[in-house]
Amino acid sequence: MSRGLALAVVLCAALPANSARRLVGFAPESAVQQRAAEAAFAAILSPDRVRDWHRTFTAEPHPAGSERNNELARYIAEEWRKQGLEDVRLHRYDVLNTAPRSVSLVMVAPVRYEASLREEPLDADPETRHPKVAPAFLGLSASADVEAAVVYANSGNPEDYAVLRDQGVEVAGKIVLVRYSNPYSYRGFKALTAEREGAAGILIYSDPAEDGFTRGPVFPDGPWGPESHIQRGAITYDFIVPGDPLTPGWPSLPGARQVKPADALSLPRIAGLPLSWKDAKPLLENMDGPVAPKAWQGGLPIEYRLGGERVRVRLKVVMDNRVSPNYVVEGRIRGSELPDEWVVLGNHRDAWVFGGVDPASGSASLMETTRAMGELLKAGKRPRRTLVFCSWDGEEVGLTGSTEWGEHFKDELMAKAIAYLNVDSSASGPDFQPDAVGSLAPLLVALAREFQDPASGQPLVEALRAARSKALAEEGVKRPLTDDDLVDVRIGSGSDHTVFLNHLGIPTVGLTFDGPYGVYHSVYDGFVWMNRFGDPGYRYHTLLSQYWGSLALRLGNADLMPFDFAAFGRHLRSFVETLAKATPKGRLDLSRVRAGIDAFEMAGTRLTEATDRLLAKGAIAPDLAKRVNQGIRQVERNWLDPDGIPGRPWFKHTLYAARYTYAHLELPGLTEAAEDQDWERAAGQAAILEQALKRNTDLVDELARTLSTAGSEPPHP
Ligand SMILES: [Zn+2]
Repeated sequence: MSRGLALAVVLCAALPANSARRLVGFAPESAVQQRAAEAAFAAILSPDRVRDWHRTFTAEPHPAGSERNNELARYIAEEWRKQGLEDVRLHRYDVLNTAPRSVSLVMVAPVRYEASLREEPLDADPETRHPKVAPAFLGLSASADVEAAVVYANSGNPEDYAVLRDQGVEVAGKIVLVRYSNPYSYRGFKALTAEREGAAGILIYSDPAEDGFTRGPVFPDGPWGPESHIQRGAITYDFIVPGDPLTPGWPSLPGARQVKPADALSLPRIAGLPLSWKDAKPLLENMDGPVAPKAWQGGLPIEYRLGGERVRVRLKVVMDNRVSPNYVVEGRIRGSELPDEWVVLGNHRDAWVFGGVDPASGSASLMETTRAMGELLKAGKRPRRTLVFCSWDGEEVGLTGSTEWGEHFKDELMAKAIAYLNVDSSASGPDFQPDAVGSLAPLLVALAREFQDPASGQPLVEALRAARSKALAEEGVKRPLTDDDLVDVRIGSGSDHTVFLNHLGIPTVGLTFDGPYGVYHSVYDGFVWMNRFGDPGYRYHTLLSQYWGSLALRLGNADLMPFDFAAFGRHLRSFVETLAKATPKGRLDLSRVRAGIDAFEMAGTRLTEATDRLLAKGAIAPDLAKRVNQGIRQVERNWLDPDGIPGRPWFKHTLYAARYTYAHLELPGLTEAAEDQDWERAAGQAAILEQALKRNTDLVDELARTLSTAGSEPPHP
């Protein structure tokens, strides 16, 4: 061993001891206990157990409303009781579920072709022959029986229809054929756009350029989608209001008031089907009309045309959309000292088919997390605060179960919840992709420093840095990354965090390991795919459980909540600068918003300093900690505007919402007003933002002063 190497070993060995003394939000003594709890938790986790859970969840198709999915709800409840979770119960919500009665698509001209609407079984994955695999459909599609000419409309976004108009291609009364797109655009927005354009129906297909052979080898030889794979999915307009379409804004408890389907804002009026490229190709290659623009040409070896006359299809969709139960499973570990402060963890259970990645990977990680938490409890290690675990239903239909549960327990959640930690898919590859509201992002980075990437043995934070710099480079960011870049703080919709963040003002975190994944929502997304490509050995599933559980324990045990409002301020500034860049000069005065952010950031720094100073001295008086922690929860609630954002009153957060495509949308009320060039509305929205910033600067300052005053007194006995 060379001398240099020996020195390096000594330095490395010294680091963990140092960092054990410093744990954000913890006094030195509680930090030692916390480290021990996290180590004990990690030691229980087992990749083999995760694999067993995954096997169970992927054994049969289990869409929302199906008998199998309800059976899995009872199974989870039973397992949680065995694991030692407390207050385990099933919440029933009567919601509009969706299934097809019959679907067909026949090209009637210029040649006859009947779409199979089925995926081909593969010997390499015998489950693809499972008798319960339903024909593909779009969730909450309308019913229709129409014959019309077909127009190719690229991604089906509004700008695509503008191109068609320029080319003189009529869309009204026709059936539009659009592709799933990259970057992702929620299929429900494609349906709404087609409906607004007066189309008679919509077909959404998977072009190989998006998720098939253009990207790489296809299943079973690689992770990408084979010829006949179909991306199922809902087209619910849940970007207007999520949850059960018949109870917008209130819980679908049995017997609850319902609106008429004709009055439901989130119900599509258009009928549609998803297609494999195998079924779309005969249509595309027979199209007439102008050659489609270069950017619209896909991965098939044909010349894509706009169509409009020659290809005619008969689309027949008979849906069986009716009210039936969804079940949310809830279990807890009651807090030893602060049972009325909650950390909520959740994952959805329902899958379009087997749900190998989406969501059974997450369900497996959830079950392993609860198993280890139960073991800790049995060993006498109860967290100080309550951990609430939820298995959601109907996420795939309209974020339904989580939304109904959030509306059901609205008041309690707003009073008690510290954070919601969501895991949808836990692993489809090795790339860690955490997201969080700005105040929680630094905590996620701190945790990533403490874990190892199983493949490289490197600290997880380095793997994260590499993955983020690649992702940001693709967005054109060239500068070296700082810690503020590592966690995605721009949060859209498309999963169960939505009700917590956007409706209730509860800070959220989302965790996933990502990778090449071309079988999303298809029959091939199953156990075999996961074991060949996604996460053979289940190391990333297990790491996710470790990270998720450790994060829950940090929030569940901290002396003072480790929320970083100075970091939040820096992120808010970048939100405002993005908006300013996109706004014509002189139209919108953002100076007071900018000044408000500066003040908020400085208050955040003062709070962090006061917290660190006080905690470094040792234990903090329980009543003082309780008061300050309650204030910190209130800061997050203060971002809500009770009136909601203009046009979408259910979405109440002034900093976060999603576009209709599910893409992230920051400062939503203000940004949408500016994009509409409605400067009066924009000024009104800016004023709402200024008030929220002022309220929170005052509150954070008051909390900092409270801690500083306490810190100048003799230490608590
Ligand atoms: Zn999912």
